[in-house]
Amino acid sequence: MTAILIDGKQVAAELRASVAARVAALSYTPGLTVVLVGDDPASSVYVRSKDRAAAAAGIAAHTIRLPADTAEAALLAVIAGLNADPAVDAILVQLPLPPQIRQQAVIEAIDPAKDVDGFHPVNVGRLHDGRPGLVPCTPLGVMRLLAHVGASVRGARALVLGRSSIVGKPVAALLTNADATVTVAHSRTRDLAAECRRAELLVVAVGRAEMVRGDYVANDAVVIDVGINRLADGRLVGDCATAECATAAAAITPVPGGVGPMTIACLLENTVMAAEARRA
Ligand code: NAP
Repeated sequence: MTAILIDGKQVAAELRASVAARVAALSYTPGLTVVLVGDDPASSVYVRSKDRAAAAAGIAAHTIRLPADTAEAALLAVIAGLNADPAVDAILVQLPLPPQIRQQAVIEAIDPAKDVDGFHPVNVGRLHDGRPGLVPCTPLGVMRLLAHVGASVRGARALVLGRSSIVGKPVAALLTNADATVTVAHSRTRDLAAECRRAELLVVAVGRAEMVRGDYVANDAVVIDVGINRLADGRLVGDCATAECATAAAAITPVPGGVGPMTIACLLENTVMAAEARRA
């Protein structure tokens, strides 16, 4: 069979429109502040896209740009100011940070109620405890795509390939909370292909170009490819060899145009959620 290609751009556009409708119904304008330290070109492009998407959804987006040699204490002071500012509902510090700044110290300084990246230990704890909180954007996007294709998650055998704190672990927690039976695989997993082949839902976040081949995929599985890898010739590919995997899968996300567009849409959703919860 040939899999349905899941159109992440379309799903993201629908989600952004629903966020805009939610914002329009509020009596205030939710505020999102992004803090960017240094001038990494990829981060700058990403921050500009966030700004544009937020503005289009009716969210007041601001970016604070700090020089690359900013001291950790100075960044923490900026965050303290944003925590105290009633107009700021959502704070996102663009990662990675320069080496003189401890990333975890910064994450832990953000008010958990404004932590729209969902990386603060309070939000991580809530997620793993199955309680409401702010959930990391890319994992949330994965769940939205599964819902979009009508994948039945409850009781399904799910395999998450990758165990990072920003993708693999939160995806595994979300799937567990949604009653899937979840296996987490990683670089030490024995017989990875056989593990993957058992999965009805396969979520891949390893950062290795086209590592998951067609024989990793069970017939009719739903495959979500989170990977973004740039090849030497400039092409962007995922962690799955999409065409091969699509011969077995029922549905698969392309790269680009699959999970990628969902991340910003989910950031906007998290911003509205944070605003509604704070101002209720
Ligand atoms: P990461 O922190 O490098 O984690 C990679 C995970 O994959 C680790 O758990 C690692 O295992 C595992 N792994 C690496 N090589 C493996 C192998 N040969 N066999 C089995 N497992 C292997 O990466 P990440 O931050 O989770 O990102 C993963 C991918 O998603 C990247 O391509 C990244 O660009 C992409 N991404 C996309 C978005 C988006 O918006 N679409 C957002 C975030 C990330 P160990 O734990 O054993 O080392």
